[in-house]
Amino acid sequence: MTSAARVVIIGAGIVGTNLADELVSRGWTDITVVDQGPLSLPGGSTSHAPGLVFQTNPSKSMTLFAKYTVEKFLALEKDGQSCFNQVGGLEVATTPARLEELKRKHGYAASWGVDARLVDAQECLRLYPLLDPALVLGGLHIPSDGLALAARATQLLIERTREAGVTYLGSTPVSGIEQSDGRVTGVQTPEGTIAADVVVSCAGFWGVEVGAMVGMSIPLLPLAHQYVKTTAVPQLEGRNEQPNGAGLPILRHQDQDLYYREHGDRYGIGYYGHRPMPLVAASLGLTPHQVDEHHMPSRLAFTPEDFAPAWRASQELLPALRDSKIADGFNGVFSFTPDGGSVVGQSPDVDGFWVAEAVWVTHSAGIARAVAEVLTTGRSQVDLAECEVSRFEEVQLARSYVEETSKQNFVEIYDILHPLQPKESPRGLRVSPFHARQRELGAFFLEGGAWERPYWYESNAALVDELPAEWRPVERDAWSSRFYSPVAAVEAWKTRTAVAMYDMTPLRRLEVSGPGAVDLLQRLTTGDVGKKPGAVTYTLLLDEHGGIRSDITVARLDEETFQVGANGPVDFVHLAREARRQRRESPERWVQVRDVTGGTCCIGLWGPLARDLVTSISDDDFSNSGHRFFRAKKATIGGVPVTAMRLSYVGELGWELYTTADNGQRLWDVLWRAGQAYGAVAAGRTAFNALRLEKGFRSWGADMTTEHDPYEAGLGFAVRATKESFVGKEALAGRSEATAARRLRCLTVDDGQSVVLGKEPVFHHGEPVGYVTSAAFGYTVGKPIAYAYLPSSVDEGDVVEISYFGQQVKATVTAEPLYDPEMSRLRG
Ligand SMILES: Cc1cc2nc3c(=O)[nH]c(=O)nc-3n(C[C@H](O)[C@H](O)[C@H](O)COP(=O)(O)OP(=O)(O)OC[C@H]3O[C@@H](n4cnc5c(N)ncnc54)[C@H](O)[C@@H]3O)c2cc1C
Repeated sequence: MTSAARVVIIGAGIVGTNLADELVSRGWTDITVVDQGPLSLPGGSTSHAPGLVFQTNPSKSMTLFAKYTVEKFLALEKDGQSCFNQVGGLEVATTPARLEELKRKHGYAASWGVDARLVDAQECLRLYPLLDPALVLGGLHIPSDGLALAARATQLLIERTREAGVTYLGSTPVSGIEQSDGRVTGVQTPEGTIAADVVVSCAGFWGVEVGAMVGMSIPLLPLAHQYVKTTAVPQLEGRNEQPNGAGLPILRHQDQDLYYREHGDRYGIGYYGHRPMPLVAASLGLTPHQVDEHHMPSRLAFTPEDFAPAWRASQELLPALRDSKIADGFNGVFSFTPDGGSVVGQSPDVDGFWVAEAVWVTHSAGIARAVAEVLTTGRSQVDLAECEVSRFEEVQLARSYVEETSKQNFVEIYDILHPLQPKESPRGLRVSPFHARQRELGAFFLEGGAWERPYWYESNAALVDELPAEWRPVERDAWSSRFYSPVAAVEAWKTRTAVAMYDMTPLRRLEVSGPGAVDLLQRLTTGDVGKKPGAVTYTLLLDEHGGIRSDITVARLDEETFQVGANGPVDFVHLAREARRQRRESPERWVQVRDVTGGTCCIGLWGPLARDLVTSISDDDFSNSGHRFFRAKKATIGGVPVTAMRLSYVGELGWELYTTADNGQRLWDVLWRAGQAYGAVAAGRTAFNALRLEKGFRSWGADMTTEHDPYEAGLGFAVRATKESFVGKEALAGRSEATAARRLRCLTVDDGQSVVLGKEPVFHHGEPVGYVTSAAFGYTVGKPIAYAYLPSSVDEGDVVEISYFGQQVKATVTAEPLYDPEMSRLRG
């Protein structure tokens, strides 16, 4: 959407007011902001937020949103006072494990462009003299962190946007959303309906209730979180002029789930160590109410017994607190989500209804800018995938799932979490038809998209001793050994030398069908998918600006039916929305998109003996000429009807074999039984990831996002320049691999053994120039591999350094793919 629309924003908290401001600055002014509370203090989470902004986060997007919030609030000022007090941020470690975690966090800061310093205990004390020297082992200091004055920022934004023509309606609850023909048309209030083309719910923890007005499940849970102010602390007296002022850095003591700020000569202390206290927002008042600093829906009565451990730990860390008391405490309400991320984006079913919720003050301006960019130009400059409201699987929208996982996220908010660490509960939600067999083989499961996914099989452990010397895996450090087993080396070896069975069921499968199917897919993809039935095409979905929305494989099964291998629910929502639009605009080009993932399953059968295995139990022609590379056909294998696609993400001869879920276990069994004669093994995600990186195959979300165009990502081959038109084509005009300022490059680690995991910063001549997107130990090539975006000036053969736990690991930019560049394995 690019032309100015009539917008209604629900909620005048820090998110809604920032969104109004970001839209105004992009020329949209027909905006009404409605809040159920009084505008001077609406009573949501923002009204009492202490506003600590620690910018650095494992997520690049969230860090960039925080950086922008800091910049914006620094510039947002009145009477010489800005809305950001840049006192810096200090996170201290009181355990060796936290010290290591801070090293990783230091790496994230460098990767995402935040200036940060690892400091020793002495420097922590210099920066923060009130700390107990006996407890602190070291810290991470980020000078640009600080305190956002959220309530003041909200008022200044209201003032400035009002001047630009935005209408604000306080004490006005929205009670319904009007729609017609699948689009929003307005919002209902006691004063009548306000017409709108776009409605954005910035209702904070009331998001569930507002979403329900359009039948949309919003996966967030309001939880109470304790915050106290102490009596005056003598050591702070006279340090800060303003009663709410602060001079010391904001402080985090994550080993005890605590954070601190000053309020003049008093301390403010926030605590996440208590039991989760979930709430139902509807019970907190949707009608206009009296609001003042101490009475508001988001501020509940303090439960001192929950705070007792925090107070003890605080007095230990900051002995000065032993001379003060808790003066005032409350249980403040805000939103948590199943994966800890915000929920942002358009409803999958009702066009024009958007949400921007579960957003911290820290990320508020950044996310508001992103939403404004998407509304006005179709795309945010910072990738929104990790916030996308449609990222959840249907089963993850069940209230019981949202409640359990959001509570868990509250508990774990300051914990040290490994990037592969799975939820312990709920588990076993989605299993493939092969699950029983996988368990018999000792599969080690991790969870993704609520699926149980085997990472390796203990049944292969006996083969570790048989590994030829050149296939032996290297010793790993404690961190990279977690959720890892050297058994993966066996599975990689068997894939390259015999044959392996991979469960590919969790990959999203969509059926696109109807007389308009070709038109839809031709319009949205960069390739030619209109080839004859049987053709399979690897292609990209771009946005209007040429950014990569996804990479998909499109198999034409018959004239009007395609099977699309996609990346996740967001792809389904995108294709389904576009199909709806096409049906509306030209009914004769009717097209339907169905998610067939749950009713089907897939085995990736890959390895040099895959053909021998499959032909031993099938009468169909699987010869090189009988079933060519990148072709699909129906066949029967061991009596099981399948759709076989000759593709491979591990770079070996073989097939993706699809069948319906009811036939799945039998397909596994017939392949397994016949496979024993060929040395077949079951293989998991650890081996898969290593093998795909050896082959240079990109993974969407890690190796490319909407922030990258196909040439930067090394996917120019998937763009058919001769195609008349497709979404994003105009934006790509004049661009090529030669003009790209940065490129995704393959690095091999010089010492042959330091295994990095991803997101580490990459340095060239001592300067941070990029970050690792994906990494693995390459079993075939015998060294660790990392992919990283680097400036195009960094060339093949150049040596760079990857910072891993503060160590500089040398790596060489290497020509890719590392394995079988001639494609002889795949095409043979
Ligand atoms: C104790 C505590 C400490 C925190 N500390 C920090 C911190 O240090 N740093 C940080 O970044 N974040 C912090 N947070 C989180 C932060 O406060 C929130 O994430 C943020 O304020 C949410 O802003 P918002 O605009 O989305 O929601 P809100 O401020 O809650 O605004 C939502 C608005 O929508 C309105 N609304 C809802 N439903 C309707 C309806 N039907 N009709 C009309 N209006 C409606 C509400 O009245 C409300 O004003 C803290 C939260 C708490 C509780």
